[in-house]
Amino acid sequence: MSLIVQKYGGSSVADAESIKRVAKRIVETRKAGNEVVVVVSAMGDTTDELVDLAEQVVPVPSGRELDMLLTAGERISMALLAMAIKSLGVDARSYTGSQAGIITDPQHGSARITEVTPGRVREALDEGAIAIVAGFQGFNRGTGDITTLGRGGSDTTAVALAAALGADVCEIYTDVDGVFTADPRLVAAAHKIERITSEEMLELAAAGAKVLYIRAVEYARRHGVVLHVRSSFNNNQGTLVVNPKDGETVEEPIITGVAADLSEAKITVVGVPDIPGKAAQIFTIVATTNANIDMIVQNVSAASTGLTDISFTLPKSDAQVVMTALNAAKDDVGFVSLQHDDQIGKLAVVGAGMRTNAGVSAKLFTALFEAGINIEMISTSEIRISVVTRADTINNAVRVVHTAFGLDSEEVAVVYGGTGR
Ligand code: ADP
Ligand code: ASP
Ligand code: MG
Repeated sequence: MSLIVQKYGGSSVADAESIKRVAKRIVETRKAGNEVVVVVSAMGDTTDELVDLAEQVVPVPSGRELDMLLTAGERISMALLAMAIKSLGVDARSYTGSQAGIITDPQHGSARITEVTPGRVREALDEGAIAIVAGFQGFNRGTGDITTLGRGGSDTTAVALAAALGADVCEIYTDVDGVFTADPRLVAAAHKIERITSEEMLELAAAGAKVLYIRAVEYARRHGVVLHVRSSFNNNQGTLVVNPKDGETVEEPIITGVAADLSEAKITVVGVPDIPGKAAQIFTIVATTNANIDMIVQNVSAASTGLTDISFTLPKSDAQVVMTALNAAKDDVGFVSLQHDDQIGKLAVVGAGMRTNAGVSAKLFTALFEAGINIEMISTSEIRISVVTRADTINNAVRVVHTAFGLDSEEVAVVYGGTGR
């Protein structure tokens, strides 16, 4: 008997009909002789709608209360799904994150899982029932409060349960056929990747390919969980995310995929004295805000003034607190002014084959140049190159780069559901 963890994203349980469809699929897996644990997201765009609602009440809601509100979304879908399964004659029990033993640190909005004690889930399985667990939520012992794991965090719940229960596979059901060479909503010519290494998947997720949440990929890699990303709308084989062992070689294309991210902003500190210690001072101030800095670029200083500019990117939602913190230290640091730009887009090409192939940057920059797209910032890692462009050029940029690296397929990529929100 195999133990299978199945996670259904919001687009797969968007309405009553979808919940009934998914329930049938789960029952079939159980009847085929498997033990089944299901992790479920909130229905459709419920989480976004609850965030909007909170912001209508107060611009910056309290973290504790926002978590309390958002976790209601997954409670609704887990209970409805359990009802639907029971109506098909199979025992099912729903559990909140806390009941399922998802223990986290106290960080509201982006809590990390510190421990998983799935006693009640195991008990349900031992009694022949299907366990349905609310994704994205946990519980902190110190504060006694409910937490959430960050947007997209139901993927992490599924992986954490798969690891703790020793599941054979963790299936991530979504509204596309797997992980594609680019977002199928943007690039109709994108094609499904059969197998991807967790290393490449991490880079794609970090670069904005939201089909898998980055922390879930990290967790799966650390605990050796095999992920299978597939559509809940058909029975097609999806994408396997694998951890090749040392020495094992995987045939690699130079570029595995292209990702885009419109969620970042750019801050430029203008007129910074070009003397030792200034970058340290600026980023120490930034660090006190807990903002996640991504790219950093420092210009050559003008000889006449001895002043330079330092730009960095960070999530749009962190920009305001960072601007405030830096402004408060303006005289101390001695810079001239601050600029905030939230109309940027980031594009990244990812591929392990880059390590052994020269000319990837040249090809990327040429493709963007030929499409008349200006590059504002560049950063590289061993298997990724990222560039910042104007936000309104990013969709076109992804398409031309996808074509330039020979990733286009003849078949049209299908999106079965969801709103892309
Ligand atoms: P779910 O509701 O199942 O969690 P998400 O919306 O979080 O679904 O993730 C699925 C979406 O991710 C797809 O509909 C697609 O638009 C988007 N996506 C972005 N990049 C990729 C990619 N490289 N491959 C597949 N899907 C991608
Ligand atoms: N419902 C949560 C969100 O929309 C968690 C998830 O779907 O993974 O972010
Ligand atoms: Mg998701």
